[in-house]
Amino acid sequence: MSVKIITVGEDILTANEEKARANQNRLDKHGILTINIMSSPGAGKTSLLLGTISRMKDKCRIAVIEGDVASSVDAEKINEQGVAVVQINTAGGCHLDANMVESALNNLSLENTDLLFIENVGNLICPNAFLLGEHKRVMISSMPEGDDKPLKYPAMFADTDVVLLNKIDLKPHLDFNVDGFKKSVIGLNPDVIIFSISCKTGEGLEAWLSWLESAIKDRKDR
Ligand code: MG
Ligand code: ZN
Repeated sequence: MSVKIITVGEDILTANEEKARANQNRLDKHGILTINIMSSPGAGKTSLLLGTISRMKDKCRIAVIEGDVASSVDAEKINEQGVAVVQINTAGGCHLDANMVESALNNLSLENTDLLFIENVGNLICPNAFLLGEHKRVMISSMPEGDDKPLKYPAMFADTDVVLLNKIDLKPHLDFNVDGFKKSVIGLNPDVIIFSISCKTGEGLEAWLSWLESAIKDRKDR
């Protein structure tokens, strides 16, 4: 008799993938473009959302799912912008999964949403391994984290559609090799789109917003 080996990790990922597909079907039915935003803590996920919402909320109906280990401070900031927001507290969990997102979707008015952002838990290790039902992935890497992050956390950079290099207003104070950073990212992910931005000054946000608008349009044209 041969020994049966069950790899728990793979099992969990397969179940998650099925649930993610169901989430995506549900989002597709409502024509909602869904974007999974990932980064380390403090790279600027919430700042990006606030900057994007204030510039986009008159053009489309936005909703946000906020993932955090604890608290609802980010969700409250988003809520002040007048968009629908659901907070997921992972109670210590280091990533969002498709089950959590399903529960959040149950608490949103999908009929009244065109664009859904999912702010993942701040972490560069594992969020990329868990599909949520998103159509696009956006990863933020901020200059103070250093230009070596693609080399240290390759999976996160390999598994995204867009990389936003944030906090470029701090460049004069940092030894950050922009060309080296971009080269490392493209080496891992040749099809990636990279934008350099500052959520603080607004520099570079135009290019990101026009990418977003064309992604919304592509969804609606389907
Ligand atoms: Mg945040
Ligand atoms: Zn995790």
